[in-house]
Amino acid sequence: MADLGEYRRRRDAARTPEPVPESSAVDSHGGQSFVIQEHHATALHWDFRLERDGVLVSWAVPKGLPTDTRKNRLAVQTEDHPLEYATFEGTIGAGQYGGGTVTIWDHGTYELEKWTEREVKFVLAGQRVQGRFVLFRTKGKQWMMHRMDAPSTPDWQPLPGSVAPMLATPGELPEDSDAWAFEMKWDGVRALARIEGGRISLTSRNDHDLTVSYPELRALGETVGSTQLLLDGEITSFDGAGRPSFARLQKRMHVSSAVQARELAAAEPVVYLVFDVLHHDGRSLIGEPYSARRALLDELGLNGPTWQTPPAFDGSGAAAFGVSQAQGLEGVVAKRRGATYQPGRRSADWIKVKNIRAQEVVIGGWRPGAGRREGSIGSLLVGLPTADGLAYAGKVGTGFTDEALDELGRQLKRLGRTTSPFSQSPGAGVPRGEAKDVHWVTPKIVGEVAFTEWTRDGRLRHPAWRGLRPDKRPDQVLREG
Ligand code: MN
Repeated sequence: MADLGEYRRRRDAARTPEPVPESSAVDSHGGQSFVIQEHHATALHWDFRLERDGVLVSWAVPKGLPTDTRKNRLAVQTEDHPLEYATFEGTIGAGQYGGGTVTIWDHGTYELEKWTEREVKFVLAGQRVQGRFVLFRTKGKQWMMHRMDAPSTPDWQPLPGSVAPMLATPGELPEDSDAWAFEMKWDGVRALARIEGGRISLTSRNDHDLTVSYPELRALGETVGSTQLLLDGEITSFDGAGRPSFARLQKRMHVSSAVQARELAAAEPVVYLVFDVLHHDGRSLIGEPYSARRALLDELGLNGPTWQTPPAFDGSGAAAFGVSQAQGLEGVVAKRRGATYQPGRRSADWIKVKNIRAQEVVIGGWRPGAGRREGSIGSLLVGLPTADGLAYAGKVGTGFTDEALDELGRQLKRLGRTTSPFSQSPGAGVPRGEAKDVHWVTPKIVGEVAFTEWTRDGRLRHPAWRGLRPDKRPDQVLREG
């Protein structure tokens, strides 16, 4: 039965901009209109309302209407709303019932096929949504919404679950600048962002879910609303001088507690620097050239408090590289304008050129410290994976912060073993003089060092510790340049 009693009980007409009609008399009505309102309340949702017996029968749909037949969406029935509500847009004050902003996402008419206590079946004819849907009750106020026909957009492709990021090859600046675009290289952690129904999830290069660690990026999902996106970018932390700081990001990379992540996000928020778009509203862009993906990305205008779309440079690679040096950035990535996105591949269509020399390494052992570092780690023995096993690349004894030493101590203690994990091949193992007092560990941990050059026998000269790389697997480590 249509009833606006609950609607009125929940609202104070003097305090909300929403329509609160006086009369309780509800006329039976032949109207068949619907409205969908996007409601940025405590949690983003879409309010789906069907006109019936003189009221708007309503459901709150947390992720919006299903976009294809494969995935149903939860819909929670809410109180009937007055017909006047169908044109309501505005801001409900904080602290009021439903506090937040309401905008009309779509409206139109529907053709009813079935209406029972448990099932409502209808065809929507809106501006944005056309199609046949069914709502079926699962328990109490909980319903599920299912799309019964294929999306009206031809060749609609569902958002993929995950995609492995395309990787750049280390190299030199390309000569022919017309064929290439240049982007700054950001010193952070690579992440793919999947956004659907206003919800974001973040995945690292090695397919770990990072969503919990960076709660400040949830707002990006809510901002794009019902737009379906798969984005590629770099999570970066900026220091007081506005420069990317990998050291500052380290604190954020190991956090899996939601409470701790929220505290850190409030104190030292990161910025997600978006540089590619791989899927947009039912359309995969992986096979499109870089220039088309980049044009769409610029059109999307993703710029907010904790996300930005840094520009791509059109001029010469040398000019872009000059900018990266002047601003103290890590380097540039040259991207071939005509190239498709190649998931999981280290492609020659993306070339990274660095200002600083950094190398990922796998830790194979450590030596205790002396003096001030007595009882702690003095240096790390590191190597690179080869077909012959882990090849020794040198000893890193500098560049550590106290926090870094604590974290390394915690992680390495668990991995202790009695034998060297380094290759025993001639020239690849640890020289006898450097193997004294070493605590060997299973080679599972990846870190990054800065260094000046490679020696002729494959050692890092003047290596300094930059931080852990929990986003990389040991077998993904590759000698750069
Ligand atoms: Mn609502």
